[in-house]
Amino acid sequence: MKIFAIGLNYASHNREMKRLMEHEDPVLFMKPDTALLKDGKPFFLPDFSEEVHYETELVVKINRLGKNIAERFAHRYYNEVTVGIDFTARDLQRKQKEHGLPWEIAKGFDNSAAIGGFVPKSEFADIQDIRFRLDVNGKPVQQGHTAEMIWTVDKIISYISRFFTLKIGDILFTGTPAGVGPVKIDDHLQGYMEGRKLLDFKVK
Ligand code: MG
Repeated sequence: MKIFAIGLNYASHNREMKRLMEHEDPVLFMKPDTALLKDGKPFFLPDFSEEVHYETELVVKINRLGKNIAERFAHRYYNEVTVGIDFTARDLQRKQKEHGLPWEIAKGFDNSAAIGGFVPKSEFADIQDIRFRLDVNGKPVQQGHTAEMIWTVDKIISYISRFFTLKIGDILFTGTPAGVGPVKIDDHLQGYMEGRKLLDFKVK
């Protein structure tokens, strides 16, 4: 199983990261399968970072084998969605960026890809019109609207499939809107999609 993730997919987040959007194609990275955190299990703060951030994202699950998928057919390759957290060791990421090095240690560490329970995408009229949010300790900290994505889900899937064969069960994190921030021990994270709670776990 592969975990794909997209960076810089919301202008609001790019502004807070002081990143100008200059890329024509999606900014793609991957996480290993050991990054997956699910079923409400707690996230243990790793000892190698002083600044682990949540990034709340729409997550889609691939349900068909595919390669070189045309954008107009991409919607046939996923049928379930949820809310996920792309945990990021921001201090490590900053250091890696400064030196022009890859992001894996900052983005792909164990349990860095938290996902909620999947729901059929058919429950939503339009994948590009879904509102999602994260509450930390009962207070909303991030609100996203998939209409604001720079690269749509279908465009991302088409792009990824030029380089990587998509397989059943692969997962795609689609980028975070503004409002990222650090987590600390005892934080309670709850992720919602159109008001429905799909993600619920604690930081330890
Ligand atoms: Mg992200």
